[in-house]
Amino acid sequence: MASTATTRRKSLHPLPILDETALLEAFSAEGVKERHAHTIWRHVVQQREALDSIHDKVNIPHKAHDIITTRFARTTSRVVERSDSSDGSTTKLLIELQDGRRIETVIMRYGHVQLRSFPEQLQLRRDDGSVEFRSSRRATVCISSQVGCQMGCTFCATGTMGLLSNLTSGEILEQLYHANGVERIRNVVFMGMGEPLDNYEEVLKAIRAMTDARRFNLSPTRISISTVGVVKRLRQLATDAPGVSLALSLHAPTQELRSVIVPTSKAWPLERILEATDHFIRSSKKLSSRYHKNQAVTMEYVLISGVNSSEETAHQLGKLLQPRKDDVCLNVIPYNPTDVPFDYQPPSASETEAFGSIVRSHGITVTVRQELGQDIASACGQLVVTREKDRADAPTSADIEQASVARSESRWHTTQFRRWMTPTRQLIKRERGVGALRWGVLGLSVACCAALAVGMVVMRQRRTVR
Ligand code: SF4
Repeated sequence: MASTATTRRKSLHPLPILDETALLEAFSAEGVKERHAHTIWRHVVQQREALDSIHDKVNIPHKAHDIITTRFARTTSRVVERSDSSDGSTTKLLIELQDGRRIETVIMRYGHVQLRSFPEQLQLRRDDGSVEFRSSRRATVCISSQVGCQMGCTFCATGTMGLLSNLTSGEILEQLYHANGVERIRNVVFMGMGEPLDNYEEVLKAIRAMTDARRFNLSPTRISISTVGVVKRLRQLATDAPGVSLALSLHAPTQELRSVIVPTSKAWPLERILEATDHFIRSSKKLSSRYHKNQAVTMEYVLISGVNSSEETAHQLGKLLQPRKDDVCLNVIPYNPTDVPFDYQPPSASETEAFGSIVRSHGITVTVRQELGQDIASACGQLVVTREKDRADAPTSADIEQASVARSESRWHTTQFRRWMTPTRQLIKRERGVGALRWGVLGLSVACCAALAVGMVVMRQRRTVR
């Protein structure tokens, strides 16, 4: 689904220096050579140099200096809030864009940190009673590609916002820049707010900068795109961004159940999404020798108790993935309670384990995602939705001009959201209705028996009277 007319076009002033198109266009218009842009990016990203001091450090033309200091900024966004989880594993940055809208960027540390919520069997208990989780992996940043999201996944706080705007490549890269200021980032996952394949061109530009040795210098294999499955883009991805990893947000093994959890998936049948995924796998395999890695596609599965967690569903999922068992792995994500209008419940540990074992019995590699940073609302969109509510209680004058646009956007999203949510509500009611129905049938039977007994007594008395 393409971005709708409700998405506002960005016209930023100053422009982000990390926005490749903007800087190259400005240089080209003034006859400045492209190589100077690369020098500037290297100093900004790797030395974290201020724009007005680059001129003193390296030899760039005066024209280039004038352009970057008058029309560009090192960052056009700012970190307005930083929250650290009590176990030290997660840091969440609330970032305000130039237009006042806010996005989230989450840094996850995999190393010697204490994790209270990590599964017992994977914890290492020290002599002093404290718990440690060991991993050889380094810091990963989870970044946003849009403000809000139009996919409307029913378990996701961002989905309740609707799509408010697409981020430019510069704004996407600024998240990595801010995160690098907190922790040395080694992995990037596009799993924050938004559907990355719905903002395809800007995401591709950002990936190009991330993998450029003169800029962020990350290996493409350390960049992961998470998508609900925008079929056309999914088919292009392996060619357009060779080497990147793919995570498909599956959440259900059938189209019927999936369209309840991911309402917009009605536009893309599961069969076509899996075909496109197979295409991605085949294309990636051709490239695997170049990237020294046989990439497995991760199938993400948010496990919601009583919705997609039954034994039958687990078998259906196992059968669906079985033909791809060498190329995919399943990542079960126990539902993390968040601000959505459903009474979704997280699965118990035994429910999660049973679900995973059934899928595993079909030959699929299954992992269970560790829960990081629950005490800082680390689920996607949670912090923004919470803070937007706080801000709504204290409106600022800067928003007055946009108020009418925002109200009409909000009305549109509320209507869409209600329309999408209807089948989900019906599913939950149906699940719960089974129990209520049983009691209803029992009550009715008792009432009928009682009425029959009373009727028989009355008839007998009448016969006696005659
Ligand atoms: S889970 Fe991802 S795709 Fe779904 S609504 Fe949330 S941000 Fe969008």
